[in-house]
Amino acid sequence: MNEFHLIDQFFKSLPRIRQDVVLGIGDDAASVRVEAGMELLVSTDTLVSGVHFLPDWNPYDIAVRSMMVNISDMAAMGAEPCWVTLALTLPEIHSPWLSEFASGLRDSLETYQIDLIGGDTTRGPLAITITILGQAPVNKAIKRSGARAGDLIVVTGALGGAALAVQDLPQPFLETEDRQTLMDSLLRPKPRVEWRSILRNYASSAIDISDGLSADLHHICHASGVGASLSRTSIPLHPLLPVYLKEKAVDLALTGGDDYELCFTVSPNHLEALTNDTEQSGLRAYPIGVIENASGIHLVLEDGRRTTYQPKGYSHF
Ligand code: ADP
Ligand code: MG
Repeated sequence: MNEFHLIDQFFKSLPRIRQDVVLGIGDDAASVRVEAGMELLVSTDTLVSGVHFLPDWNPYDIAVRSMMVNISDMAAMGAEPCWVTLALTLPEIHSPWLSEFASGLRDSLETYQIDLIGGDTTRGPLAITITILGQAPVNKAIKRSGARAGDLIVVTGALGGAALAVQDLPQPFLETEDRQTLMDSLLRPKPRVEWRSILRNYASSAIDISDGLSADLHHICHASGVGASLSRTSIPLHPLLPVYLKEKAVDLALTGGDDYELCFTVSPNHLEALTNDTEQSGLRAYPIGVIENASGIHLVLEDGRRTTYQPKGYSHF
């Protein structure tokens, strides 16, 4: 099989869901229609074998994870994920592997109503680069830079589950059943796209938690020129964290990435409306702290003491 057969068999055959794709896979470029009043958002994420996943992982899971981390970036912008391109680097053409990989892609594309519109296929060490394109009403995308002193800091769900699964990988210590649950949060994160309208209506800034809460909140603070204080006891923990880590649970929730929950800020004036909307949508917002003028991230401890927290999280270099 050559490169062109491969593209035809595994990628061109994927479902075409969206009406706004003028030209999909097969030409020198793809073409899509962006609705009037909307702007285009673009984001890219690469997953490298041995860095972001292990070579022996199920190709289905690798495909799903590659898609989810990209969709999560659109969720964090309050944007609708619409189209993706896939740059795939493969050591060899191995049909069963590609077939499983394409199946993971198919399920992800169908779940989120996204079209694969193009890509590139090359030989080399296994790596997957997905570029996602999305849309949001003009000037309505939620940036990292909009947080203001007094805004509340909110996260969309419990943290640390995926990070606990990562800790378990080199030297397993989890009960089998718990490992399965936690690997699921690592392999199949669920981008919080259902928060889109709430973010657009109320959020002053937002980010998805990919590197760890403290590191990602630091990005918001840095971009907005503010600081933050977090209430240590308010940080929602994955229920298995306290079971395995006892008093160290909060530390992992602060530093562990990969859960792909969202962290956003909201003016206290909007809190009541936000609470009503989240309840009506069957969602839950967890307020964990407040934005301050003074720079740095502070932790307010159980006994009310305030300590400076050095943001830690994943960095490639
Ligand atoms: P070009 O020579 O213009 O780079 P390619 O031969 O790389 O074109 O690709 C042919 C067509 O297949 C293009 O439309 C490209 O977008 C698409 N394509 C290539 N690789 C992939 C892939 N991995 N997934 C989806 N589409 C792909
Ligand atoms: Mg090419």
